[in-house]
Amino acid sequence: MDHLKAIIIGAGMGGLTTAIALRQAGYEVHVYDRVRELRPAGAGISLWSNAIKVLNRLGLGAKVARIGGQLNGVSYHRHTGEKLNDFSIKPLIEQVGQRPYPVVRTELQQMLLDTLGADCVTLDAKCIGVEESADRVTAIFEDGQTATGDLLIGADGTHSFVREYVLGRSLERVYRDYINWNGLICLGEEVCPKDYWTLYVGQHQRAAVMPVGNLPDQPVGESRFYFFFDVPLPADTPTHPDGIRAELTEFFKDWSTPVQRIIAQLDPQKTNRVPIHDVNPLERLVRGRVALVGDAAHSTAPDLGQGGAQAIEDAWAIANALLAHNLGVADALRRYEAQRKDRTEQVVLWARKRGDMIHGKDPVKTQRWYDELAQEDGSNIMNAIVKTIQAGPLG
Ligand SMILES: Cc1cc2nc3c(=O)[nH]c(=O)nc-3n(C[C@H](O)[C@H](O)[C@H](O)COP(=O)(O)OP(=O)(O)OC[C@H]3O[C@@H](n4cnc5c(N)ncnc54)[C@H](O)[C@@H]3O)c2cc1C
Repeated sequence: MDHLKAIIIGAGMGGLTTAIALRQAGYEVHVYDRVRELRPAGAGISLWSNAIKVLNRLGLGAKVARIGGQLNGVSYHRHTGEKLNDFSIKPLIEQVGQRPYPVVRTELQQMLLDTLGADCVTLDAKCIGVEESADRVTAIFEDGQTATGDLLIGADGTHSFVREYVLGRSLERVYRDYINWNGLICLGEEVCPKDYWTLYVGQHQRAAVMPVGNLPDQPVGESRFYFFFDVPLPADTPTHPDGIRAELTEFFKDWSTPVQRIIAQLDPQKTNRVPIHDVNPLERLVRGRVALVGDAAHSTAPDLGQGGAQAIEDAWAIANALLAHNLGVADALRRYEAQRKDRTEQVVLWARKRGDMIHGKDPVKTQRWYDELAQEDGSNIMNAIVKTIQAGPLG
């Protein structure tokens, strides 16, 4: 189809990538976000090769490589420090044909925004209504303004308002029984190798660092990492009265020296504390001229590191469905849904299963996983990641 106008609600990585893909397809796009200033939640994100392949096809390969960390290997350790395994990810990169890039979220969002152009984005515009006629769809904003187009894309995240319109009901997110802390930190090689995803596991908890792109004025001998900690806890566990460092010190008190170094060095003011939720797979992703992308469509726990990557895959799929078909917008969006529903449902359910295993839902299974990690030469871990990557739209 030609000459379409798309209204996109949400300027996260899903909304912005969709806007770029649709504009490259020749469509008119405008993105609306409720915030006054774009500030993505969370510090870093690993963009696995399936997401990077889409960004390559959108002409953003060099830009994402510039902000991405060089991830060349993975090592797991017991929480006490003993190494369980250590392997290069070169075989994975060679098999899928593209390296992954862990990135800083604000840098990814800025890169997408610069590519799209700030004039295509209106901030301080909270969508509170959607109305469809036979051939148009209108978004209604809190201040009474409206925007009308041929299609509307709900890229408004895990608490999506547009999802309620698509489903005709509201829904509760599902707590995944653990809290995650994450942030950015600069560390020297004496703490962890600069090009490794280094993980510590034990007591059903996890601590990890992953390299992101370095700062222009990076201190000599240090590299910048995304760090995260997971602890199984009730969702409403109050923060320690003495703050985040105090609670991490308590939860990780028997853990190895590098973990203690990370806790001692992190900036508690810039550390996020997130009770992890997902959403049960939706019965539909599309209603008429309205489609969901990203977390609005398939909010997943981060245990596969695939939520953002799925949003980026959605962008590619929706642009291609509209470009390739000629029976009308609603028909093309149904084809988008057919392409994405099973894929994203699998990711949500698989991440759930993996999260349960990591966080001791069944302690016997978690112990078995720890034992397997000690036997692992990397091939099982890489095969699982390759499978997820190759099930993406670009293979
Ligand atoms: C701890 C953690 C770690 C993660 N790690 C990874 C990882 O390593 N790799 C990976 O691929 N994914 C990861 N994810 C998942 C990833 O963060 C999300 O899947 C991704 O951010 C979803 O992007 P989005 O654009 O769909 O939604 P968001 O980024 O949530 O953007 C939604 C936007 O919509 C706006 N909005 C909301 N409601 C309205 C409204 N009514 N009107 C107007 N605007 C509105 C919001 O202001 C926001 O800007 C992780 C998630 C978490 C929580």
